[in-house]
Amino acid sequence: MVVAENVHKSYGRLEVLRGIDLEVRRGEVMCVVGPSGSGKSTFLRCVNHLEKINAGRLWVNGQLMGYRQKGDRLYELRESEVAAQRRDIGMVFQRFNLFPHMTVLGNVMEAPVQVKREPRAEVRERAMGLLDRVGLADKADSYPEQLSGGQQQRVAIARALAMAPSLMLFDEPTSALDPELVGEVLDVMKDLARDGMTMIVVTHEMGFAREVGDSLVFMDGGVVVESGAPSEVLTTPRHERTQAFLSKVL
Ligand code: ADP
Ligand code: MG
Repeated sequence: MVVAENVHKSYGRLEVLRGIDLEVRRGEVMCVVGPSGSGKSTFLRCVNHLEKINAGRLWVNGQLMGYRQKGDRLYELRESEVAAQRRDIGMVFQRFNLFPHMTVLGNVMEAPVQVKREPRAEVRERAMGLLDRVGLADKADSYPEQLSGGQQQRVAIARALAMAPSLMLFDEPTSALDPELVGEVLDVMKDLARDGMTMIVVTHEMGFAREVGDSLVFMDGGVVVESGAPSEVLTTPRHERTQAFLSKVL
């Protein structure tokens, strides 16, 4: 579902990603951990082509992100073509970024109606189903500010799912939440994983990584230092940098 091959990304002279190679199979959950500034968010933004990479290749669902390849040459896709690729990828951020002036239901319906031009009645029914799935059907008519952080994040997940993505990216989805609200968001993500969604999750929730992750990647300084089965990486990290990081967060 996702193949990253020697992905490089720089901002000016700052090289943030220095050759990332990764693979996520369909239906797998990959958890990504690493110190602040190691390039985790940048990598996620490159996966859905919110950032252009400077070298390497990124495929999602068999499609080369942002480019068309003819022979050995790459041609940049048009903005509308990139947007079409991106529609297949849902993203959930640390900050929930809900539309404050829209109801919960309105938030979930917005993209399918405005971007995909799907009929309102159909979208409404599906949106209600998604809100039910994240346990918030009774909040459909509330506004974001009336909800807790955990509830808002669950709406953000429902909103991403409304576009029927084949891949979900999560960037520290529980980091901004009060501790007692973390569990309800992780439960929704677990449910999604059980249902077969392919997911890349940047998180510091090692319990989640161990329980739900099919693989765990440790990034530092713009490279993948170590990756493998979560139980192995967490209990017997091979690299000193991984050990040092884990000793701080576990
Ligand atoms: P992480 O998510 O692992 O904390 P980031 O991917 O956010 O790391 O950032 C990696 C590095 O890239 C940091 O040094 C950060 O300051 C820098 N960076 C991120 N985004 C930008 C940007 N848009 N312009 C310049 N530098 C950036
Ligand atoms: Mg980040």
